[in-house]
Amino acid sequence: MSEQEAAFTRQADGQLAVDGLPLKTLAERYGTPLYIYSDAALTRNWQAFARHWPAPHRLCYAVKANSNLAILQRLAQLGAGFDIVSGGELARVLAAGGDAAQVVFSGVAKSVTEITQALTAGIGCFNVESLAELDRINAIAADLGCIAPVSLRINPDVDAQTHPYIATGLKANKFGIAMDDAVASFVYAASLAHVKVVGADCHIGSQILSVDPFLDAAQRMLDLVAELARRDIPLQHLDMGGGMGIQYQQEAPFALAEYLQRLQALVKEQQPHLTLMLEPGRALVGNSGVLVTQVEYLKRSADKCFALVDAGMNDLVRPALYQAWHDIVPVHASTEPQATLVDVVGPVCETGDFLGHARHLAVKAGDYLAVMNAGAYGFTMASNYNTRPRAAELLVRAGQAHVIREREELQQLWKDERLLP
Ligand SMILES: *Cc1c(COP(=O)(O)O)cnc(C)c1O
Repeated sequence: MSEQEAAFTRQADGQLAVDGLPLKTLAERYGTPLYIYSDAALTRNWQAFARHWPAPHRLCYAVKANSNLAILQRLAQLGAGFDIVSGGELARVLAAGGDAAQVVFSGVAKSVTEITQALTAGIGCFNVESLAELDRINAIAADLGCIAPVSLRINPDVDAQTHPYIATGLKANKFGIAMDDAVASFVYAASLAHVKVVGADCHIGSQILSVDPFLDAAQRMLDLVAELARRDIPLQHLDMGGGMGIQYQQEAPFALAEYLQRLQALVKEQQPHLTLMLEPGRALVGNSGVLVTQVEYLKRSADKCFALVDAGMNDLVRPALYQAWHDIVPVHASTEPQATLVDVVGPVCETGDFLGHARHLAVKAGDYLAVMNAGAYGFTMASNYNTRPRAAELLVRAGQAHVIREREELQQLWKDERLLP
């Protein structure tokens, strides 16, 4: 499938490269740990959606997947709107040149400050998760003398068959309004003077690999839209959220074109006036980035070999947090004759600090490894745990490497801390 075409490929000499630039050269020049993104991959991922998603349907990139300003800038240039979950993300989108009118604001606990900030900026829509939030938005909009466009996030109660921490569409989750309460909630929203009901939304989870849960959810949402129309609450849009999975290991690729086409067919048949929206995060950026790390030591115990590397759970937490798999490969042609089973582990003082267990690798100290598919929920979840400066980020575009975030300096880490007098 052309849209899955790898951005990071082996050259004839065995070097792993992006746009003809060997990762080893970049690692030597910029240091490690180092996130490297490919603009070509990002663009291809965007086009994989856009080619099956004609206007007026819209795509709002989920900023939390990767919120670097340059990534947001490129997506804005490609035509993306944005799905944000905080006032901080809104500020980033605006700093990157995004259009506030193309922003939808999700999140279960929006503060007064955030709602005020979003109304003042003129965002496109609030994805409201509770009646209490609806009341708060209505009151703030009244104070500001404006009308807030809102969608209600409904929990369609479908099982997305993904990791429990990233399944969000079941009744038991903290997200959204229960389907049983949906109609009454819309009736209430429609009665408020300072909100305008424009849509309904849902988001059933993340890293979902089958089209079926999405289409199940879509049908439930369309039934709701029909019921609302009967009650004189016509909606302009239906936002089906994100969650489209990518290939980390051996998963069959998510049938994106099929999903986009079947979703549109359902809507065309049942609610032809509806504009559709999606909020993809991972599917746009996940495979467009890698994390490059250097092996500090090899350490053998009686029955194990550890590759102790300079990237840890503070740089990429997904393995520790979700038992997530990332392929880990040497960036250079291997000169070691024999691959052995190694645990690739970081320097952080936690047993949970690993990038991959039991990998077949031929490595020695000083080698560089690439942790693949690290473009989504990588840097954005990074922390300074163990007082480790966060990694630098590069975006490679047309054969040129651009530093899109400098490596943090140690002094930056405590510049806001104060000693007692
Ligand atoms: C996280 C999130 C997304 C993006 O999810 P992906 O799995 O990265 O596509 C979209 N919408 C909402 C409401 C989210 O919380």
